[in-house]
Amino acid sequence: MRTIEHWINGRNTAGTATRHAPVWDPATGRQQAQVVLGEVADVDAAVRAATAAYAEWSQASLSARTKVLFAFRELVNARTDELCELVSAEHGKVLSDARGEVQRGLEVVEFACGLPSFLKGDYSDQVSGGIDVYSYREPLGVVAGITPFNFPIMVPMWMHPVAIACGNAFVLKPSERDPSVSTRVAELWAEAGLPDGVFNVVHGDKVAVDAILDHPGIAAVSFVGSTPIARYIHQRAGAAGKRVQALGGAKNHAIVLPDADLDYVSDHLVASAFGSAGERCMAISATVAVGDGADRLVEAVSEKARKVRVGPARDAGSEMGPVITAAARDRIVGYIDSGERAGARLAVDGRDLRVAGAEEGFFVGPTVLDAVTPEMDVYRDEVFGPVLVVLRADTVDEAIALVNANPYGNGTAVFTSSGEAARRFVRGVQVGMVGVNVPIPVPMAYYSFGGWKDSLFGDKHMHGPEGVSFYTRAKVVTARWPRVEQATGASYHFPTAT
Ligand code: NAD
Repeated sequence: MRTIEHWINGRNTAGTATRHAPVWDPATGRQQAQVVLGEVADVDAAVRAATAAYAEWSQASLSARTKVLFAFRELVNARTDELCELVSAEHGKVLSDARGEVQRGLEVVEFACGLPSFLKGDYSDQVSGGIDVYSYREPLGVVAGITPFNFPIMVPMWMHPVAIACGNAFVLKPSERDPSVSTRVAELWAEAGLPDGVFNVVHGDKVAVDAILDHPGIAAVSFVGSTPIARYIHQRAGAAGKRVQALGGAKNHAIVLPDADLDYVSDHLVASAFGSAGERCMAISATVAVGDGADRLVEAVSEKARKVRVGPARDAGSEMGPVITAAARDRIVGYIDSGERAGARLAVDGRDLRVAGAEEGFFVGPTVLDAVTPEMDVYRDEVFGPVLVVLRADTVDEAIALVNANPYGNGTAVFTSSGEAARRFVRGVQVGMVGVNVPIPVPMAYYSFGGWKDSLFGDKHMHGPEGVSFYTRAKVVTARWPRVEQATGASYHFPTAT
């Protein structure tokens, strides 16, 4: 059985491992590897390596750091196929989807290649007689990232390229469900010329996470995962005095107005609800049909949902793969059962899907539940699977109120041909990322990614300008170079400009 090890100080190590977790092939239901689960001592070893490396890396010139970033960019680009295979083998997503994930991660690396222009400070000449003021940003030290299973390469790349380009050292605790690609990324950093210890990977579960949250040598924690864990990370790391950004779960609504093009909308709803088996934090999982077009919409979406080709990623014809674990499949099926019991109408039922040749895989078929109401579990909770629920509203304002009453605020979209209605929606909705006729409005790397409400704890979004701000702190310098004959003697009032 292959064992996936930590990457600490530029090399693979089993560390103190006595515990392991299985890594499944979700398409066959069989274990394909095991990953070491880090203990407190392993996190400490990574932090010690990172602390030593930080001393030099933070002093490296912007030019030297940028060279490493460009080399890393080239390597990720050149190895895209291999990285996609690794992601797909452990996550189960189809290769075209994995390719999209690598591409979006690469865009953050490219943003980080241009980071010197973001790190330029401000300068004010002669703010008072003979006094100049300037400000610039310095790195924080050792920072950590804790990441979910659903984007095993992209989500960590929201963090480490920016943190490292800013001059920090990084400790990554990736998901234990699809850990291999993180170790491969560490090797690519090393090949790009990043000094040992600047990027480390500690695999593990809650034990490693808690060790990160409590470690006095870690200055900041970036987290992406489910809302209960995001809330916990924010509280515990905050109590330990760390800077924290913790992105949580989602319930992303698409509001569909009767004037939207039915063919366009149904294509996009099906792709965004069932792509990656619905295991995307920006998946559309709830549709609000406004006005009298609801029945036609459900019909069009259902017809396309039934045609989605579900199968293992290794089959070139597959459009949607399995979900991540048997437990995830059972949870998703449980939500469909619960929606049906609560009175929702099953327009498409994916519970009994059997994939020929992959009967033991963790598959759930695309599912559409109509006539869903806000008090049902299948609407209230994040299902995180290929399940689209349909609610109805009489007006745009009613639809906006429904979205705003939901505790999550990650992404949302409006489908309409009315600019007025779209603008009213954009301005009225309490959600961090909004699409207009765009179902998965993931911002480009030079903007920042993040939700509102229970989808984000902390006040900084990831990558883009807010990512730079998160991984640095400002220093403001007030400087005077007086000539000796200008000495004026001591004055005891609070200093003011003259
Ligand atoms: P998760 O919360 O179960 O796990 C995320 C990370 O936390 C993993 O590294 C895991 O090892 C760790 N963890 C899990 N349980 C823990 C515990 N009790 N104590 C400490 N650490 C723990 O999430 P997941 O199932 O891996 O990923 C899916 C979730 O992530 C969904 O809720 C999805 O919406 C969310 N997500 C959000 C975004 C976003 O940008 N907002 C992006 C991707 C995924």
